[in-house]
Amino acid sequence: TGIYHSLVRLDEHQKIPTHPNLDIATYVLSHFPPPEEAESRVALIDSDTGHRITYAQLHRSITCLAAGLHHGLGVRKGDVVFVLSPNSLLYPTICLAVLYIGAVITTANPVNTEEEIIKQVRDSGAILAIAVPSEVSKLSSAGVPVLHTSRGGGGGHLSVEELIEKCEALEITEVKPNQSETAAILYSSGTTGTSKGVVLTHSNFISVVTMMKWSTQVSKASDDVILCFIPIFHIYGLVFFALGLFSTGNTVVLMKRFDFQAMLEAIQKYKVNNIPAVPPVILGLVKHDTRRHDLTSLRRVGSGAAPLSNEVAEAFRKKFPWVELRPGYGLTESCGATTYFATDKEVKARPGSSARLLPYFSAKVVDPETGEVLPPFREGELWLKSPTVMKEYLGNEEATAVTFDPEGWLKTGDLCYFDDEGYIYVVDRIKELIKHNGYQVAPAELEAILIGHPEITDAAVIPLEDEAAGQIPVACVVRASADKLTEDQVIQFINSQVAPYKAIRRVNFINAIPRSAAGKILRRQLISQSKQQMPSR
Ligand code: AMP
Repeated sequence: TGIYHSLVRLDEHQKIPTHPNLDIATYVLSHFPPPEEAESRVALIDSDTGHRITYAQLHRSITCLAAGLHHGLGVRKGDVVFVLSPNSLLYPTICLAVLYIGAVITTANPVNTEEEIIKQVRDSGAILAIAVPSEVSKLSSAGVPVLHTSRGGGGGHLSVEELIEKCEALEITEVKPNQSETAAILYSSGTTGTSKGVVLTHSNFISVVTMMKWSTQVSKASDDVILCFIPIFHIYGLVFFALGLFSTGNTVVLMKRFDFQAMLEAIQKYKVNNIPAVPPVILGLVKHDTRRHDLTSLRRVGSGAAPLSNEVAEAFRKKFPWVELRPGYGLTESCGATTYFATDKEVKARPGSSARLLPYFSAKVVDPETGEVLPPFREGELWLKSPTVMKEYLGNEEATAVTFDPEGWLKTGDLCYFDDEGYIYVVDRIKELIKHNGYQVAPAELEAILIGHPEITDAAVIPLEDEAAGQIPVACVVRASADKLTEDQVIQFINSQVAPYKAIRRVNFINAIPRSAAGKILRRQLISQSKQQMPSR
């Protein structure tokens, strides 16, 4: 039939719990180690200071903050809480406390501009913001109360720490959400257009965490010490480092942000075994001299969020033969994880593959022009079905209708093929999305800014392959008159209005943007046109 189903056979206890009144926070907390063990088992370590938090302390801070939010600040079931913070020891507590009282979490990259942040606060309907003091000023016109992530931020703002300290016992059973209700709204541009709120339910997260428990069991990774620099505001970080790993009893060493030397030091100091990473980090490990650090504790390095080249994967294996490299594929709309390699042998035998479907997933590869379902080895758009797939795009029926087919298949916008054993190969991206260091850059957003310039008559933003960052956004610009606008001026104009990871680094002045009769930018044509003019770096 051309439909692939996960080949994983699950035991009865590995099934997704179906109790309707279960929420993701209660589910995660119910898998914490038993009380005696929780007093000594370390859940989190701050990589800078070495400060440790046990499972018992984490449990207390989650329920205390939940009480503070509910009783102290009046946050109610269904209320949206906007979190603006880099990784911190309190980030998992904040997420789980918000979810515990049935409120909804929405997260953003703290380097986003004020305008980008205000837009998300409004779109998500947030009623409270929890922000790192250094970025609080970006919320001044948001019109919502702000709680600081840490004390001493000034402005008379209460902090999460203070709220936890004031804690009273929590009795909130009556406000618990059911599985079908919204747990998080994360932003993704999907297959087309600007950023949209991906509505993920408690059931989506319970399913993904159940899968993580399964994968931890098959890889015998429950005693792993896992390094976290993947941002928790992204689905990859949220699922691993705020939810999944605490339900498998792991210890997480948390870095506030990625820094290559600090990563090497943390691996050595805390005997890290496992790093969920992204391709630029794997490239860094291959290219930099790592001999001054003892990395022999490492057992596994994952790679997700963007394609990993075969050359880099091979060079990594040569340099670190004791480490298993595990590529995986996923997207915000599927709650992060979609595929998984169970053994290193499988990975080595299939260079370039992004693994097989995780439990509960079904998939097919469809010809995007004709809708025909394709057999193995034929390239087409990957469509997915799984209990982890999002409910909808928030308040955007049109985008939701375009993204799901009438039978409920999620169209990923990724060009893929299956081999005859069900392994997926991601070949290219059909959707407009550009990925810079694993972060999403939506061309439509940059194009809207560019055409606002009085000297620009038309513009399109396309990706250019880049060894270090994966892709960089390039602006193709049609000028009103050639002598009035330079590349530097275009770059300055746009980059002052967007977050640094969305920055345009090159401009290609052209005579006309190729468009279809309906006015759609012919991106493929423009990309191949530009490839001839601008070689990749
Ligand atoms: P995000 O929603 O930010 O996680 O972005 C999801 C997109 O990242 C996917 O639809 C792919 O285009 C890309 N991506 C994620 N993992 C991989 C991978 N292993 N290989 C190629 N592209 C990937």
